[in-house]
Amino acid sequence: MNWVLIGASTIARDYMIGAIRAQGAGRVSWVVSGSQERAAEYARQNDIPGATSDLDEALRDPSIDAVYISSTNEKHQSQAIAAIAAGKHVLCEKPLSTTIEGATAMVRAAKAAGVVFATNHHLRCAGSHRAIRSLIRDNAIGRVLSMRVFHAVHLPEGLRGWRLDNPDAGGGVIPDITVHNADLVRFILGEDPQDVAAQMGVSGMGKGVEDSAMSVWTMPSGAMVMSHESFTHPFAGSGIEIHGTEGSIFAKGVMGQDPEGEIEMVTAAGRKPVPFDNHNLYDESVRRFCEAVAGDGTPAATGLDGIKSLQVAMAVRTSARTGQRQTLKYEEIA
Ligand code: NDP
Repeated sequence: MNWVLIGASTIARDYMIGAIRAQGAGRVSWVVSGSQERAAEYARQNDIPGATSDLDEALRDPSIDAVYISSTNEKHQSQAIAAIAAGKHVLCEKPLSTTIEGATAMVRAAKAAGVVFATNHHLRCAGSHRAIRSLIRDNAIGRVLSMRVFHAVHLPEGLRGWRLDNPDAGGGVIPDITVHNADLVRFILGEDPQDVAAQMGVSGMGKGVEDSAMSVWTMPSGAMVMSHESFTHPFAGSGIEIHGTEGSIFAKGVMGQDPEGEIEMVTAAGRKPVPFDNHNLYDESVRRFCEAVAGDGTPAATGLDGIKSLQVAMAVRTSARTGQRQTLKYEEIA
């Protein structure tokens, strides 16, 4: 597959260029930035032959199969629509858009054009979360009663730009992290939250956007979920806990970008560690995307997953703003 990177971003540099190149014949031929100078410098640093500030120039290249979009969040929609119109497959970063209508338009356009559209929700690609999901599916802890997601991190210095001060660019911890938590909960429990009640705050880093949020979700099965995300916690650590009628699962250090952490299951039989596969999360996301393009299966997180997870995050923000519990009604993509 031959790719265009749309967005001269940190995530592309640190993870996705490597993941694309890890797929045998995977090539990155263009980087598109808002600035020609920055595109050229990024291309030089990352050994990419083409650099442009004109998206259409890259999309006109007939050798291009797919685009990976990792610009700031408000740009995803128009860039995806342009790529789809040019007949390219799209792997887009979360949140798909700053609005649910925008995300839905992207996924509908891809469907109409017959191109593959995927959302880069990397956590569901982790061996740790797949092992936990299998335990839940195999009824290893009985009926799930509750799940706790603790994902309060300390935003690295280099990422303290638009995320903290630019609501127009899709800044804030809710579009940044709650959307990942929503996707992970949906993936592990195999059901979509029914309603949410939330609060959010600006506890130190954020300027004009929230840097912390806490929310409680109810699931159709009756299970309750508690989700905590923040940019301001240097020592909190991350993880999930799932408690069932016959056991509990404790997973620590499993919410990052690398294959790490540890999982333990506790039942009446005692405590035991849960082994999991240590593959690279982003390689796996790109691998599944390439297979889908080749007609084999679906991406790890589809466009519809991207929409639904965004709907949960948006409901959290609306609930926090209004003080009202939000009931979710999910988009249908016919
Ligand atoms: P960055 O801030 O690194 O990049 C976003 C944009 O900011 C770039 O496209 C670039 O614009 C501009 N930019 C970046 N660095 C500089 C710089 N030094 N000087 C000037 N402009 C700069 O963001 P991230 O890589 O962290 O995030 C990008 C997207 O990826 C977001 O949508 C985010 O939500 C998502 N993401 C997803 C992750 C995942 O695991 N799925 C993890 C991290 C982020 P231009 O292209 O115009 O040059």
